Amino acid sequence: MAAWWWKLGPVNVLLCSFLLTVFSASPYYKQAPSTSDAPLVLLVSFDGFRWDYLDRNKTPSFDSFVRDGVKAKYLFDTFASKTFPNHYTIATGLYQESHGIVGNNMYNVSTGAKFTLRHKFNSSWWEGGEPIWVTNQNQGGHSGLIMYPGMEIQIRGQYPSYRLPKYNSTFPYEERINIMTRLFANGSINLGLLYFREPDHSGHMLGPNSPDMDAVIQMCDETLGYLMKKLRDAGLGDRVDVIVTSDHGMTPVSKDNFTQLDDFVDPELYYYTDNNPVIGIWPHKESDVDVIYNKLQGASPHVSVYLKDEIPAQYHYRDNPRIAPILLVAKEGWAIHVGNKTGSHFLNYKGNHGFNNSLMSMHPIFVARGPSFRQGLLVEPFENVNIYPLICKILGLEPAPNNGSLENVQDLLKYSELVTIMTTNEKGIITEPPPSTWSTGTVIGIAVAGAILLVAACLLLAMCARQRSYRQQPREYTPIADTSLEGVDEIADSGFSSYNYPNTKI
Ligand SMILES: [Zn+2]
Repeated sequence: MAAWWWKLGPVNVLLCSFLLTVFSASPYYKQAPSTSDAPLVLLVSFDGFRWDYLDRNKTPSFDSFVRDGVKAKYLFDTFASKTFPNHYTIATGLYQESHGIVGNNMYNVSTGAKFTLRHKFNSSWWEGGEPIWVTNQNQGGHSGLIMYPGMEIQIRGQYPSYRLPKYNSTFPYEERINIMTRLFANGSINLGLLYFREPDHSGHMLGPNSPDMDAVIQMCDETLGYLMKKLRDAGLGDRVDVIVTSDHGMTPVSKDNFTQLDDFVDPELYYYTDNNPVIGIWPHKESDVDVIYNKLQGASPHVSVYLKDEIPAQYHYRDNPRIAPILLVAKEGWAIHVGNKTGSHFLNYKGNHGFNNSLMSMHPIFVARGPSFRQGLLVEPFENVNIYPLICKILGLEPAPNNGSLENVQDLLKYSELVTIMTTNEKGIITEPPPSTWSTGTVIGIAVAGAILLVAACLLLAMCARQRSYRQQPREYTPIADTSLEGVDEIADSGFSSYNYPNTKI
């Protein structure tokens, strides 16, 4: 039997061929990636990597990375601009008041329990959010964490599938990368989170504007170069979506710029949580809240003083019992001291973070490249709560409730809706916007709609032909042969491969 399309006549076949040729030859058409391989995502955090460190002309690896991928002008971290709170925001897509890690130091007023960077292992501190590695594991994936904050904690009943047993700041960067690359290469994980302590540590010690920071930034750049080389050597260079970001920026401080609270309030009246330049005041007696607040209000031009319900809404930093009844936030470059702080590490700092998160100095980097990301794209800044839904989208995960939105970041992805692309020259500077492109999804949608319309038109033409034939015949006619469609191919569904590896420590 002749193929169904042959029965539509030579004119219709020619029309069909013409339309298919137009769609497939269009300069807007891009080949979709193979869906036979599961997506892989590696999130890398360089602690305290301020957004404009990339402008020091010391980062050829980052520059190359950006040319092949996407870059935000900078990233909005969340208040307070501190390490653990922001790393957990990146991991959960939640503001700090929602996930509950509201400082590197915290206080549970109900139990008297204290959270510090050395005493952080009680799961209850972390249960307010579902980190991306748990989301991934709940939906069949396997996650590997190398030094990322939260690595050592059992959260919602789960440790990461693969992890190092204990945080070690001196663990060599290259070895971290070697382990992470092996985990991807042998198929153990589909999601990795990798953490580096620099340039935060040196930013504190040297100050972010010190010329000596150049060498530190250069070292971070070489670390990224080594990572990408290891991925390429493992055949993963174009397989893994790599996101490089950070938790906060850094601003210069001086040991001479501080406000001494004891000059205004008796320190015997309260307990305090020290996340300098953010201090939480917990009066021993509720009746002292207003007393202390009134004494501190206006006491120093270098400190903003808030009752809990007065904290600016933009901070998203009110609705959690771990946030103190009175919050003090030092102005940029200043510190707040309580009692004898002679031994405080803050006195040795030439740089610090934690200030108002709308300050330019507090903004970190966001760059990404890989099979899911567009190339040579520069986008406006966005909040770090959007990273969680972005990773969920790439990995095909159903996200847990979060404060982010895929709409804010979907233009970073290759197969999103219509976007405007900005190109970069070899130095990473924007030159001109080329023509907009259509995403593959849009093209496929139009092609399918066009094909349906074409088939409908062909059927209509065939029916008209039959009608003409019918009218020309006598009433006792011979039935016309059936012209229903035959042989329509079914499109194979290539689903997400599930993983089945043991839950093992490295
Ligand atoms: Zn940090």
